[in-house]
Amino acid sequence: MHILQIPNTNAFANRNGYKPRYIIIHGTAGGSNAEAIAQYFKSTEGSSNPVSAHYVIGQDGEVVQCNSENDGAYANGVFSAGHDPWWNTSINPNNVTISIEHCKPAEDNSNVLTDAQKASSFQLITEICQRWNIPTRWADGDGGITGHFSIDPVNRSRCPGPYPWDELFAALTSTQKGNSSMVPNGWHDDGTTLTDKNGATFTGAVRTTILASNWDSNNTYIGARRLDQPGHGVLLEDGRWGSGDILFFASSAIAVAWHPDPALTGGQSLTNDTIIVPIGNELLWAHDIITANNRQIIDLQTQLNQANTHATDLQNQITALQQQLSQAQQTNGGLTQQQQQDLKSKIATLVSDAQALQAEFIK
Ligand SMILES: [Zn+2]
Repeated sequence: MHILQIPNTNAFANRNGYKPRYIIIHGTAGGSNAEAIAQYFKSTEGSSNPVSAHYVIGQDGEVVQCNSENDGAYANGVFSAGHDPWWNTSINPNNVTISIEHCKPAEDNSNVLTDAQKASSFQLITEICQRWNIPTRWADGDGGITGHFSIDPVNRSRCPGPYPWDELFAALTSTQKGNSSMVPNGWHDDGTTLTDKNGATFTGAVRTTILASNWDSNNTYIGARRLDQPGHGVLLEDGRWGSGDILFFASSAIAVAWHPDPALTGGQSLTNDTIIVPIGNELLWAHDIITANNRQIIDLQTQLNQANTHATDLQNQITALQQQLSQAQQTNGGLTQQQQQDLKSKIATLVSDAQALQAEFIK
């Protein structure tokens, strides 16, 4: 981005050895032009109250740099009561921060950023975060981004005043390329093209949507398929969408469905070719089938156990009767012909029961 240089000496040289870990957002509470504010900073050199900021962004989006990022601009004053508790107050905050002023004509900083100002601010912050590896989130003890109010809530509670924080963090998330936490497991992103496990590729708005979904290891990938890339991916339920040519994949609660022809997508339009649809019913359907199968398995196991017990029981009876018969034969006529016949037929019945049970298992 184009940055005009209007340097001044109102800064700690080399940050007294520290590195920037924070970006501090400010509002000027007066003035609209970045160059004019930068000239004012310069005019305070050598005065009793020299002030500055690393950058000033005008309402027209112009960016002016007043101090090197290697130096600690005189921008943040001192800590006041009620400052965020994670600040290390033994270090001058100017030595660990990069300050960005936003021109706001209202003395109470009540102006919202202009579109041009917002665009410059987001781009500048993105570049600074990449340059110094500053965390792209609300500041905490490890670094990040916050307003002057975090350091001096007594005198600067309205600095910067309105600022599109949510939009900033969303923009930072979607421009962070190659961050593994946003690329679904097993997928690959080269900064332009996102490729899924099956080789289906996504670019543009669809890729941006996927990367902004905060994927993590708990996400479930169901499948993707595109009309213009036949054979790619798997549909959970082919045909459910009518034409069977939709990609959809799921986080824990939602799926993103996409179709090259927006006329076919229906539903809520996220971008001109992307919709997000709940897939609770799809998951429920799969869950019900698994649960039903599990119940059947348990029932069959119970039946098998019962049959095994029965088989053991029959075997024991057969053995006992066979022993009885053999003893009777050895006692030399101790049993009548009829009694022997009865025993033999009893054994035959039991054996046939056992065989029937065996056949039941095989079935
Ligand atoms: Zn401020």
